[in-house]
Amino acid sequence: MAAFGTVFMPEMALARFDESGWSTPAMVASNSINLHPGAHVLHYASTCFEGLKAFRHEDGSIHLFRMDRNVARMQQSSELLSLPAFEKDMLEQMIIDSVRRFAAEVPSPPGSMYIRPTHIGTEAAIGKAAAPTASSLLYVLLSPVGDYFAGGAKPLRLLLEEHGARCAAHMGMVKSGGNYASALQPILKARASVQADQVLFCPGGDVQETGAANFLLIDGNEIITKALDSTFLHGVTRDSILTLARDRGMTVSERELSVDELLERAAKPGAEAALSGTAAVLTPVGTLIRDGKEHQVGNGEAGPTTLALRQALNAIQWGKAEDKHGWLRKV
Ligand SMILES: *Cc1c(COP(=O)(O)O)cnc(C)c1O
Repeated sequence: MAAFGTVFMPEMALARFDESGWSTPAMVASNSINLHPGAHVLHYASTCFEGLKAFRHEDGSIHLFRMDRNVARMQQSSELLSLPAFEKDMLEQMIIDSVRRFAAEVPSPPGSMYIRPTHIGTEAAIGKAAAPTASSLLYVLLSPVGDYFAGGAKPLRLLLEEHGARCAAHMGMVKSGGNYASALQPILKARASVQADQVLFCPGGDVQETGAANFLLIDGNEIITKALDSTFLHGVTRDSILTLARDRGMTVSERELSVDELLERAAKPGAEAALSGTAAVLTPVGTLIRDGKEHQVGNGEAGPTTLALRQALNAIQWGKAEDKHGWLRKV
């Protein structure tokens, strides 16, 4: 099985922005963009992206999951990066057209079609370090993906990072390339030093998120996660899991969570922790590492509530449970 995100459909939907506005989106070869080496994105990181999925149901129909949320977030990222604004309908139609074109290639569950809208600043102008790009490209890549959990959902080991931040505080809710580059060294060091899978960024003791997923603590009937603010990425999966938790009668606490409280509650028998994101859905966390000391979460195994919430979300996505919240859109 190819690694996640390394197989691409041969064509993508693409629209171009320049002084005459947005071009009519068209399907073009996926390896066909021409970029000047002085393009704004290559020097000043004017780039943002999205990640969402299309699912195949048993009757063969194809459904997008919460596309409106991802498109709205992409508009917000573009705005916060001073990239050209676009209409939501344009990007939605580009996503729908691409998925329709390759509908036959959408894998059956547990696989799906991963969709990667991308927006980049293309103006060749290396003097524009402090000015926005005048032109841009918006395109939609498709990548069929298999089961992220092939081989079982092994609970993750997270290193708690209380000093460094994942990215600049005002960039937290922007899904932009520079933020991932910014988190890479801490992640590589955590892998090498304590064999951690990910870093849980907790600047000043405030539990935020990992490099590419949100963090949730489950203690009995309560699910705790940081309240939305501009310092971290507002995951669609986070919102969906919290909604399903409320549906099940759980208490959802969106508030500040300190590292001290996290370690105290995670040590209780039955405690669970998980990462949420489109790619990984809900992945159990088994170990937290602080200053070289390992703290097991609950019994260190994937917990029943984590597995039940993941299953409930997958059931909706796969058409096996009623879509009560209107999250699916048939293409
Ligand atoms: C994409 C991402 C998430 C998860 O968002 P979803 O909408 O659930 O996929 C969380 N944190 C970061 C930093 C991300 O890039």
